[in-house]
Amino acid sequence: MDRLQGIGPKRAVALRDAGLNTVEDLLFHLPLRYEDKREPVPLAAVDGKRLFRLTVKSVDQGRTGRGGRLHRLQAVAEDSHGTVVTLRWLNQPFRARSIEAGKSYCCFGQVVADSSGKGSGLLLDNPELEEDRGDEGILQPGPHLGRIVPVYRRVGGVGSRVIRTALHRIFQTGFHPAETSAAGALKAHGFPRRSELFRGIHCPPNGADPSQLNARGSIWQHGLAFEELYLQQQLLAEKKRRRLASRKKMIDGGSNPLQDSSNLQNAVEGLTGFRLTAEQRLAIADIVADQGQPHPMRRLLQGEVGCGKTVVAYAALFHAVAGGRQAALMAPTEALAWQHFHRLEQLLRSAPAKQPLRKLAERIILVTGGSDARRRRELKSRLAGPEPLIAIGTHALLTSSVVFRDLSLAVVDEQQRFGVGQREQFRSKGTNPDLLVISATPIPRTMGLRLCGDMELSRIRELPLGRRDVSTLCLEPDQAAHALDLLEQELTAGRQGFVVCPTVHDRGGQKRAAETVYRKFQTGRLSRYPAGLLHGGMGLDESREVMDGFQRGNICLLITTTVVEVGLDVPRATVMIVLEPERFGLSQLHQLRGRIGRGKWPGQFILLRSMDDTKGEAASRLAVLVSSDDGFHIAEEDFRLRGGGELTGRRQAGAPEYRTVFPAAEGRLLTMARATAFRRSGLDAD
Ligand code: ADP
Ligand code: MG
Repeated sequence: MDRLQGIGPKRAVALRDAGLNTVEDLLFHLPLRYEDKREPVPLAAVDGKRLFRLTVKSVDQGRTGRGGRLHRLQAVAEDSHGTVVTLRWLNQPFRARSIEAGKSYCCFGQVVADSSGKGSGLLLDNPELEEDRGDEGILQPGPHLGRIVPVYRRVGGVGSRVIRTALHRIFQTGFHPAETSAAGALKAHGFPRRSELFRGIHCPPNGADPSQLNARGSIWQHGLAFEELYLQQQLLAEKKRRRLASRKKMIDGGSNPLQDSSNLQNAVEGLTGFRLTAEQRLAIADIVADQGQPHPMRRLLQGEVGCGKTVVAYAALFHAVAGGRQAALMAPTEALAWQHFHRLEQLLRSAPAKQPLRKLAERIILVTGGSDARRRRELKSRLAGPEPLIAIGTHALLTSSVVFRDLSLAVVDEQQRFGVGQREQFRSKGTNPDLLVISATPIPRTMGLRLCGDMELSRIRELPLGRRDVSTLCLEPDQAAHALDLLEQELTAGRQGFVVCPTVHDRGGQKRAAETVYRKFQTGRLSRYPAGLLHGGMGLDESREVMDGFQRGNICLLITTTVVEVGLDVPRATVMIVLEPERFGLSQLHQLRGRIGRGKWPGQFILLRSMDDTKGEAASRLAVLVSSDDGFHIAEEDFRLRGGGELTGRRQAGAPEYRTVFPAAEGRLLTMARATAFRRSGLDAD
């Protein structure tokens, strides 16, 4: 790299420190924008920044501003048509050395009307200046002049000009970057070759359209984006092809009736007492069909909070164990793992004695952190034992002491809470087991195809009981008493509620900490309703006891933190008060809201504001929740209001960063890239 013109050893080190190690890295340092410095234009009748060839008539220096604090350099110049313009620079005294009356210059800037009334009527404020070394009237082209000039982001103290010189040089010397495996696909879609893509981007020909380049709509920019997307999709296609070609141990359920999808669905309905929705049935049928395939399943089950993904996952677990195998479900919190365990046990115990599901009730085990040696030994021997079983747990399932004899199905609930690595670690607990991942986080299609493009997708769009009836209320800081009234109404009617606090401990005046709020409720006006405290820092047994009490209704009011954000399902809970909602992400609040109004009573979600929010930013963010119940819309608004960065409140684990792609053409290019990459791997794109 230091052999390139203009980049000596020192700059090479600076670039390396900034992550630009190779020429290829430099090629991917794409221009921020382009400036049209092709041909000088007449001063009259142009807008935007343009290039002018001007002859300087006179130069004048002085001071200006209050008390003459600013240095002012001013020149009068004219173009070849005799139009006169004033050039002005403030506080750049060094410029005086490089400007001389009688000489010609190329100036780049935007002409505006001079309002001071003193000058020529036209003003070029702070223009760039290049001495025109060309012959009479002919521009001497170079890296910085006589072409559409790319402007680069400064890196490691190395400025745009140096980067431009280096890249210009690269293409002057007829440099050819290596082709990639996307070459054929580029050609098939009529894109130029890779070397031409880079050349077009860093040294666009003079016939190119600068505004198209600035909108990143040129064929070179599209081509490079296509290449990146194609390479990504090619990897996914290859991964999927290998999976389809690999073999798992087949489920051999013999004559077990639960091997049949519709029997299984009926049995689930019998257990839960509700009718499955059409989409739930479809998802179960798809999963069961995948489980019957010789290659391992890899399926994403996606759907809005409260749409009923859990029973679908349970059906998959039942199917696996009915086939005599082991299955496991991993959840992100102790509370949620415990709820699954408890719920499954209850459901299965309620089955009629002759039902094949009935005997599964004794075959569920809970695997969480912090169990004692005796329990760990017991777990170990059950996992090694011959009988089918369902293991429910947290990431404790991933520890090396957890060894499955015969894991057939791995289910990840709330998968956005886990990293890609954890998902794979879980899967490696078996020999090519089926994988089902569940998520309520809405992912835009393009992101979905990038993240999970090698998976099958099951979507649940409708909520089981129609629209959930939860009203959202945003209260001012001084309306706490009203919030308590609403809470009391529900508790008096025999229902349950949450108070969600931003922190656990009181660290100096943190009045909203869960522990403090809990103490207040024990003595305050609602003290006759039994309250419980639940947060992530509590001991296992303690939090289980609280969860259990809340599920059973012995505890009416749960003072808690975001540990209840995901998954909890307590049908009698109808009211939730969130303290300091400004501190939560919108998607997070939407998830929290999903905890209430799950039974037959309408719910009330109360945001009790606390900060003085003078600019109204927090208020307008929260207003999105008041007006919308659509998780997808909320995630997008959250994204828009926060100005990008994090799409869904928390960064998608494993989401690759693009080097080239930009939103405008992303969807179309991605669809093209995916179709081609998958077809070439002999697969269907969707
Ligand atoms: P999520 O998709 O957010 O995990 P759950 O699976 O917890 O949602 O389901 C939300 C609630 O809806 C639960 O109380 C569940 O028992 C109930 N439910 C699920 N499916 C149906 C259905 N088909 N009919 C009625 N209630 C249902
Ligand atoms: Mg759930």
